[in-house]
Amino acid sequence: MSRRISFVEVGPRDGLQNEKALVSTADKLELIRRSIAAGARRIEVTSFVNPRRVPQMADAEEVCAGLPAAQGVSYIGLVLNPRGAERAIATGALHELGAVCVSTDTFAMANQGQTSEESVAAAKAIIAMAQDAGLKGQATIAATFGCPFEGEVGEDRVVAMAVALAEAGPIEVALADTIGVADPAHVSRLVARVVAAIAPLPVRVHFHNTRGTGLANVWAAVEAGASVVDAALGGLGGCPFAPGAAGNVASEDVIYMLHRAGAATGMDLSKLIEANHWLAGVMGRNLPGMVAQAPAFPKISQE
Ligand code: ZN
Repeated sequence: MSRRISFVEVGPRDGLQNEKALVSTADKLELIRRSIAAGARRIEVTSFVNPRRVPQMADAEEVCAGLPAAQGVSYIGLVLNPRGAERAIATGALHELGAVCVSTDTFAMANQGQTSEESVAAAKAIIAMAQDAGLKGQATIAATFGCPFEGEVGEDRVVAMAVALAEAGPIEVALADTIGVADPAHVSRLVARVVAAIAPLPVRVHFHNTRGTGLANVWAAVEAGASVVDAALGGLGGCPFAPGAAGNVASEDVIYMLHRAGAATGMDLSKLIEANHWLAGVMGRNLPGMVAQAPAFPKISQE
Protein backbone atom coordinates (compact mmCIF):
# COMPACT_ATOMS: atom_id res chain seq x y z
CA MET A 1 0.00 0.00 0.00
CA SER A 2 2.02 2.99 -1.25
CA ARG A 3 -0.48 5.56 -0.07
CA ARG A 4 -0.56 8.37 2.40
CA ILE A 5 -3.08 7.81 5.19
CA SER A 6 -3.87 10.75 7.48
CA PHE A 7 -4.05 10.07 11.18
CA VAL A 8 -6.18 11.69 13.87
CA GLU A 9 -5.28 11.13 17.53
CA VAL A 10 -8.49 10.98 19.59
CA GLY A 11 -6.96 9.81 22.87
CA PRO A 12 -7.37 13.06 24.82
CA ARG A 13 -11.14 12.98 24.11
CA ASP A 14 -12.47 9.56 23.16
CA GLY A 15 -9.65 7.70 24.90
CA LEU A 16 -10.22 9.37 28.24
CA GLN A 17 -13.92 10.29 28.32
CA ASN A 18 -15.07 7.02 29.82
CA GLU A 19 -12.33 6.76 32.48
CA LYS A 20 -13.86 6.89 35.96
CA ALA A 21 -10.81 8.43 37.64
CA LEU A 22 -10.35 12.02 36.53
CA VAL A 23 -7.14 12.60 34.58
CA SER A 24 -5.54 15.95 35.39
CA THR A 25 -5.56 18.76 32.85
CA ALA A 26 -1.75 18.74 33.03
CA ASP A 27 -1.64 15.06 32.05
CA LYS A 28 -4.09 15.67 29.19
CA LEU A 29 -1.84 18.44 27.90
CA GLU A 30 1.20 16.18 28.22
CA LEU A 31 -0.66 13.53 26.19
CA ILE A 32 -1.30 16.17 23.52
CA ARG A 33 2.37 17.28 23.55
CA ARG A 34 3.54 13.68 23.21
CA SER A 35 1.11 13.07 20.34
CA ILE A 36 2.52 16.08 18.51
CA ALA A 37 6.07 14.89 19.18
CA ALA A 38 5.10 11.53 17.65
CA GLY A 39 3.93 13.30 14.49
CA ALA A 40 0.19 13.81 15.03
CA ARG A 41 -1.08 16.80 13.06
CA ARG A 42 -4.75 16.50 13.93
CA ILE A 43 -5.73 15.89 17.53
CA GLU A 44 -9.20 15.70 19.10
CA VAL A 45 -8.35 17.51 22.31
CA THR A 46 -11.64 17.60 24.22
CA SER A 47 -15.42 17.77 23.92
CA PHE A 48 -17.81 20.51 24.93
CA VAL A 49 -20.56 18.54 26.60
CA ASN A 50 -22.51 18.76 29.85
CA PRO A 51 -19.90 18.19 32.60
CA ARG A 52 -22.52 16.43 34.73
CA ARG A 53 -22.94 13.82 31.99
CA VAL A 54 -19.23 13.51 31.09
CA PRO A 55 -17.20 14.64 34.13
CA GLN A 56 -13.87 13.74 32.47
CA MET A 57 -14.44 16.53 29.92
CA ALA A 58 -15.37 19.21 32.49
CA ASP A 59 -11.98 20.90 31.97
CA ALA A 60 -12.51 21.53 28.22
CA GLU A 61 -11.81 25.26 28.52
CA GLU A 62 -8.72 24.68 30.69
CA VAL A 63 -7.33 22.15 28.20
CA CYS A 64 -7.86 24.63 25.38
CA ALA A 65 -6.18 27.42 27.36
CA GLY A 66 -3.10 25.23 27.82
CA LEU A 67 -2.71 23.92 24.27
CA PRO A 68 0.84 24.32 22.97
CA ALA A 69 1.25 26.57 19.94
CA ALA A 70 2.30 24.07 17.30
CA GLN A 71 2.86 24.94 13.66
CA GLY A 72 0.74 22.84 11.34
CA VAL A 73 -1.24 21.12 14.09
CA SER A 74 -5.03 21.24 13.94
CA TYR A 75 -6.81 21.03 17.29
CA ILE A 76 -10.30 19.54 17.16
CA GLY A 77 -13.10 20.13 19.65
CA LEU A 78 -16.03 17.72 19.62
CA VAL A 79 -19.45 19.31 20.01
CA LEU A 80 -22.98 17.89 20.07
CA ASN A 81 -25.08 21.03 19.87
CA PRO A 82 -24.90 24.79 19.14
CA ARG A 83 -24.23 25.63 22.78
CA GLY A 84 -21.18 23.34 22.71
CA ALA A 85 -20.08 24.93 19.47
CA GLU A 86 -20.31 28.39 21.03
CA ARG A 87 -18.15 27.26 23.95
CA ALA A 88 -15.61 25.68 21.60
CA ILE A 89 -15.40 28.76 19.38
CA ALA A 90 -15.08 31.04 22.41
CA THR A 91 -11.85 29.34 23.48
CA GLY A 92 -10.11 30.76 20.41
CA ALA A 93 -7.75 27.78 20.58
CA LEU A 94 -9.32 25.33 18.13
CA HIS A 95 -8.96 24.87 14.39
CA GLU A 96 -11.80 22.40 13.78
CA LEU A 97 -15.18 21.57 15.22
CA GLY A 98 -16.25 17.96 15.01
CA ALA A 99 -20.01 17.42 15.05
CA VAL A 100 -21.72 14.09 15.74
CA CYS A 101 -24.93 12.71 14.35
CA VAL A 102 -26.31 9.27 15.08
CA SER A 103 -27.73 6.66 12.71
CA THR A 104 -30.67 5.58 14.89
CA ASP A 105 -33.29 7.49 16.89
CA THR A 106 -32.83 5.56 20.13
CA PHE A 107 -29.08 6.09 20.33
CA ALA A 108 -29.41 9.69 19.12
CA MET A 109 -31.80 10.33 22.03
CA ALA A 110 -29.45 8.68 24.54
CA ASN A 111 -26.33 10.42 23.19
CA GLN A 112 -27.63 13.88 22.53
CA GLY A 113 -31.40 14.14 23.07
CA GLN A 114 -32.28 14.33 19.38
CA THR A 115 -33.82 12.10 16.74
CA SER A 116 -31.43 10.84 14.07
CA GLU A 117 -32.80 13.35 11.57
CA GLU A 118 -32.50 16.19 14.08
CA SER A 119 -28.91 15.14 14.77
CA VAL A 120 -28.05 15.50 11.07
CA ALA A 121 -29.59 18.98 10.99
CA ALA A 122 -27.69 19.91 14.16
CA ALA A 123 -24.41 18.64 12.72
CA LYS A 124 -24.94 20.72 9.58
CA ALA A 125 -25.67 23.76 11.74
CA ILE A 126 -22.47 23.17 13.73
CA ILE A 127 -20.43 22.88 10.53
CA ALA A 128 -21.89 26.23 9.46
CA MET A 129 -21.07 27.78 12.85
CA ALA A 130 -17.48 26.56 12.53
CA GLN A 131 -17.18 28.04 9.06
CA ASP A 132 -18.67 31.37 10.17
CA ALA A 133 -16.04 31.49 12.93
CA GLY A 134 -13.22 30.82 10.46
CA LEU A 135 -12.74 27.21 11.57
CA LYS A 136 -13.08 23.97 9.69
CA GLY A 137 -16.09 21.76 10.29
CA GLN A 138 -16.45 18.02 10.00
CA ALA A 139 -18.97 15.46 11.13
CA THR A 140 -19.05 11.90 12.37
CA ILE A 141 -21.90 9.45 11.91
CA ALA A 142 -22.03 7.47 15.15
CA ALA A 143 -23.20 3.86 15.30
CA THR A 144 -22.61 3.51 11.57
CA PHE A 145 -22.23 -0.27 11.69
CA GLY A 146 -24.64 -1.12 14.48
CA CYS A 147 -26.62 0.42 17.32
CA PRO A 148 -26.47 -0.64 20.98
CA PHE A 149 -30.25 -0.25 21.24
CA GLU A 150 -31.72 -0.97 17.79
CA GLY A 151 -29.19 -3.50 16.45
CA GLU A 152 -28.59 -3.55 12.69
CA VAL A 153 -28.34 -0.19 10.93
CA GLY A 154 -29.43 0.10 7.31
CA GLU A 155 -26.61 0.95 4.91
CA ASP A 156 -28.88 3.18 2.82
CA ARG A 157 -29.56 5.27 5.92
CA VAL A 158 -25.82 5.83 6.50
CA VAL A 159 -25.17 6.74 2.85
CA ALA A 160 -28.08 9.20 2.91
CA MET A 161 -26.75 10.80 6.10
CA ALA A 162 -23.25 11.16 4.59
CA VAL A 163 -24.68 12.83 1.48
CA ALA A 164 -26.76 15.20 3.64
CA LEU A 165 -23.72 16.11 5.75
CA ALA A 166 -21.59 16.69 2.65
CA GLU A 167 -24.01 19.44 1.58
CA ALA A 168 -22.81 21.53 4.54
CA GLY A 169 -19.24 21.70 3.22
CA PRO A 170 -17.32 19.75 5.88
CA ILE A 171 -13.65 18.85 5.32
CA GLU A 172 -14.61 15.15 5.59
CA VAL A 173 -17.31 12.79 6.83
CA ALA A 174 -16.40 10.14 9.39
CA LEU A 175 -18.00 6.72 9.88
CA ALA A 176 -17.77 5.57 13.48
CA ASP A 177 -18.21 2.07 14.83
CA THR A 178 -19.04 3.48 18.24
CA ILE A 179 -19.70 0.13 19.90
CA GLY A 180 -17.21 -2.03 18.00
CA VAL A 181 -19.57 -4.41 16.19
CA ALA A 182 -18.31 -3.96 12.62
CA ASP A 183 -16.72 -6.71 10.56
CA PRO A 184 -14.36 -6.15 7.62
CA ALA A 185 -16.84 -7.25 4.95
CA HIS A 186 -19.42 -4.76 6.20
CA VAL A 187 -16.74 -2.08 6.39
CA SER A 188 -15.50 -2.75 2.83
CA ARG A 189 -19.01 -2.54 1.42
CA LEU A 190 -20.22 0.53 3.30
CA VAL A 191 -17.00 2.57 3.12
CA ALA A 192 -16.85 2.00 -0.65
CA ARG A 193 -20.46 3.18 -0.98
CA VAL A 194 -19.87 6.32 1.09
CA VAL A 195 -16.59 7.12 -0.69
CA ALA A 196 -18.41 6.93 -4.02
CA ALA A 197 -21.38 8.95 -2.73
CA ILE A 198 -19.44 11.95 -1.40
CA ALA A 199 -16.28 11.98 -3.56
CA PRO A 200 -14.01 13.89 -3.67
CA LEU A 201 -14.75 14.59 0.00
CA PRO A 202 -12.51 12.36 2.18
CA VAL A 203 -13.98 9.60 4.35
CA ARG A 204 -12.55 9.21 7.85
CA VAL A 205 -13.10 6.06 9.91
CA HIS A 206 -13.28 5.47 13.66
CA PHE A 207 -13.21 1.97 15.11
CA HIS A 208 -13.49 0.46 18.55
CA ASN A 209 -11.96 -2.92 19.27
CA THR A 210 -14.75 -4.23 21.48
CA ARG A 211 -14.91 -7.58 19.68
CA GLY A 212 -11.35 -7.80 18.37
CA THR A 213 -12.16 -6.71 14.80
CA GLY A 214 -10.78 -3.17 15.10
CA LEU A 215 -7.53 -3.48 13.13
CA ALA A 216 -9.11 -5.68 10.48
CA ASN A 217 -11.76 -3.01 10.06
CA VAL A 218 -9.13 -0.26 9.68
CA TRP A 219 -7.47 -2.32 6.97
CA ALA A 220 -10.75 -2.97 5.17
CA ALA A 221 -11.63 0.72 5.35
CA VAL A 222 -8.38 2.02 3.86
CA GLU A 223 -8.52 -0.64 1.14
CA ALA A 224 -12.05 0.58 0.35
CA GLY A 225 -10.88 4.18 0.00
CA ALA A 226 -11.00 5.77 3.46
CA SER A 227 -8.05 8.16 3.70
CA VAL A 228 -8.19 9.33 7.32
CA VAL A 229 -8.08 7.05 10.39
CA ASP A 230 -8.86 7.85 14.04
CA ALA A 231 -7.14 6.01 16.88
CA ALA A 232 -6.40 6.54 20.56
CA LEU A 233 -3.00 6.08 22.15
CA GLY A 234 -2.89 2.80 24.05
CA GLY A 235 -6.35 1.76 22.87
CA LEU A 236 -8.15 3.56 25.68
CA GLY A 237 -11.77 4.53 25.25
CA GLY A 238 -15.46 3.89 25.45
CA CYS A 239 -18.71 5.74 25.17
CA PRO A 240 -20.64 6.82 28.28
CA PHE A 241 -23.98 6.43 26.44
CA ALA A 242 -23.36 3.13 24.65
CA PRO A 243 -23.59 0.05 26.86
CA GLY A 244 -20.64 -2.29 26.38
CA ALA A 245 -18.49 0.06 24.30
CA ALA A 246 -14.78 -0.65 24.80
CA GLY A 247 -11.52 0.90 23.70
CA ASN A 248 -10.58 2.55 20.45
CA VAL A 249 -8.11 0.90 18.13
CA ALA A 250 -4.68 1.78 19.53
CA SER A 251 -2.72 4.46 17.68
CA GLU A 252 0.54 2.52 17.86
CA ASP A 253 -1.12 -0.69 16.60
CA VAL A 254 -2.72 1.11 13.65
CA ILE A 255 0.53 2.89 12.75
CA TYR A 256 2.52 -0.35 13.01
CA MET A 257 0.11 -2.10 10.64
CA LEU A 258 -0.01 0.75 8.12
CA HIS A 259 3.78 1.25 8.09
CA ARG A 260 4.44 -2.46 7.69
CA ALA A 261 2.07 -2.39 4.73
CA GLY A 262 4.02 0.47 3.14
CA ALA A 263 1.61 3.33 3.84
CA ALA A 264 3.00 6.71 4.88
CA THR A 265 1.42 8.40 7.90
CA GLY A 266 3.99 10.91 9.10
CA MET A 267 3.96 9.23 12.51
CA ASP A 268 6.96 8.04 14.54
CA LEU A 269 6.16 4.60 15.96
CA SER A 270 8.98 4.63 18.52
CA LYS A 271 7.67 7.88 20.01
CA LEU A 272 4.13 6.47 20.12
CA ILE A 273 5.40 3.44 22.05
CA GLU A 274 7.24 5.72 24.49
CA ALA A 275 4.04 7.71 24.91
CA ASN A 276 2.08 4.49 25.54
CA HIS A 277 4.46 3.60 28.38
CA TRP A 278 4.13 7.09 29.85
CA LEU A 279 0.31 6.93 29.64
CA ALA A 280 0.24 3.47 31.23
CA GLY A 281 2.06 5.04 34.17
CA VAL A 282 -0.52 7.81 34.42
CA MET A 283 -3.41 5.31 34.28
CA GLY A 284 -1.69 2.87 36.64
CA ARG A 285 -2.22 -0.15 34.41
CA ASN A 286 -1.15 -1.72 31.14
CA LEU A 287 -3.14 -0.34 28.23
CA PRO A 288 -4.96 -2.55 25.71
CA GLY A 289 -2.69 -1.66 22.75
CA MET A 290 -0.50 -4.64 21.84
CA VAL A 291 2.46 -3.27 19.85
CA ALA A 292 3.81 -1.34 22.84
CA GLN A 293 3.90 -4.56 24.88
CA ALA A 294 5.78 -6.53 22.22
CA PRO A 295 9.45 -6.50 21.17
CA ALA A 296 10.26 -4.09 18.34
CA PHE A 297 10.11 -5.68 14.90
CA PRO A 298 12.22 -5.64 12.79
CA LYS A 299 13.46 -2.38 14.21
CA ILE A 300 11.45 0.65 15.27
CA SER A 301 10.04 2.29 12.16
CA GLN A 302 10.91 5.98 11.79
CA GLU A 303 8.62 6.64 8.88
ZN1 ZN B 1 -15.30 6.45 19.69
